[in-house]
Amino acid sequence: MLDLLIKNGVVITMTGKGVGVIPRGSVGIKGNRIEFVGEIPTGCRAHREIDATNKAVMPGLIDAHIHSGLALLRGLAQDTDHWMQKALWPFAHALTPEDDKIGSMVNIIEGVMAGTTTFCDYDSNMDSLLENHMKVGTRARVAETINEMPDDMPELDIGDLYPLDQDSGQRLLDTSRKLLDKWHGSGQGRITCMLGPQGPDMVSAQLLQQVFELAEQYDTMVHMHVAQGDREIDQMLKRYGKRSIPWLDEQGFINQRLLAVHLTEATDEETRLVAQRGASMVLCSGSIGIIDGIIPPAATFLAGGGRLALGSDQAPGNNCNNMFNEMKFTSILNKCRARDPRVFPAWQVLRMATIDGARAIGLEEEIGSLEPGKKADIIVIDMDAPSLCPPILEPVRNIVPNLVYSANGSEVDTVVIDGQVIMEERRLLTVDRQKAMAEARTAAAAVAGRAKLGPDILAVEMMAKDQL
Ligand SMILES: [Zn+2]
Repeated sequence: MLDLLIKNGVVITMTGKGVGVIPRGSVGIKGNRIEFVGEIPTGCRAHREIDATNKAVMPGLIDAHIHSGLALLRGLAQDTDHWMQKALWPFAHALTPEDDKIGSMVNIIEGVMAGTTTFCDYDSNMDSLLENHMKVGTRARVAETINEMPDDMPELDIGDLYPLDQDSGQRLLDTSRKLLDKWHGSGQGRITCMLGPQGPDMVSAQLLQQVFELAEQYDTMVHMHVAQGDREIDQMLKRYGKRSIPWLDEQGFINQRLLAVHLTEATDEETRLVAQRGASMVLCSGSIGIIDGIIPPAATFLAGGGRLALGSDQAPGNNCNNMFNEMKFTSILNKCRARDPRVFPAWQVLRMATIDGARAIGLEEEIGSLEPGKKADIIVIDMDAPSLCPPILEPVRNIVPNLVYSANGSEVDTVVIDGQVIMEERRLLTVDRQKAMAEARTAAAAVAGRAKLGPDILAVEMMAKDQL
């Protein structure tokens, strides 16, 4: 007896080399795993059925890099240079751990309602944010921020080398160790942890060595921003006389355990090296486009045979945490970069948000495609939504291009994670959405009031212009 049967849908399995479409098929689920995909075996019965007629059934989307704890700052830090120092930090410093948790719930709900089932959440206070992931029922593969930034950071001008503080680093490494002991593999394996050094400019070689040893010990990955901006490269050159990637490679840190986020400033040669070493890359097209006006070298990374996933990054930069948005941006920006409409086709980008993304984050045995034995992370998408209608199956199919170039996430009707129905007909079943948004409104108003915004901060100018 099955627990759940999703039947009569266009099933996009994401198996094989393309997207693996079954024009009319079903998916059977027992416990938290997929029992069969395709034809319903004779005599098969289920406790519960979902009719997916006129709907697409596919694996849940993977957001391989998100800082959900910053969600209260959505829309507060755009259209400026030196984004982190000028626009993000003044607001981020006003956030309390409780604010992070309240904001994180908004981001998680936003993601789930747009079809995200796996969140590679990267933040401080992860122990507390994981309570949100447990409550909503998401699959989370998290990392606690590790850096050696001193608690009493002196006032620095842009371009000053920041001091590193060993004690802070050891304390945060210890927090990560505790996080791994408490959460890694919990929730029937739904929750797993990675190690999260913030960037090569914010940790010493000694601390990075300890981080990689810990990753080895727990057999997990190291989720790190690499070559994420001119600020980082400038710090590396001042501290070591070397750019990030050559320095990391010299220390032996570019390997299969590394999930390298952004590579914004990586040269083609550096990018090829990261791919050759077997490290994975996370491409955050929306965030890096808005923050830096740059299209990261994903095409070079893919040409080098690298494993690539997509991430939405954080709400104060990207504004939205929606993988349909990331897929569309990724395809369009890379076509523009290459001046070639044939690159980054819809099917390939859909793979980046599902099976190829799963490979990049080391979960390909569990998720990313609809196959017997895999975990049941499934989304059902309404193809009668005006943005996806009319679906055409013969002689060519329009469904995948429509999902990537037209859908906005609101077409996601039902979300199943680890065999549990989390959203049904767009109603969230596990948490009170209205209550979460009300808490966020109150907390965000207080944060904005507390933020110390000096006259030199561009964000103030932006807001002043808004008010003219
Ligand atoms: Zn990030």
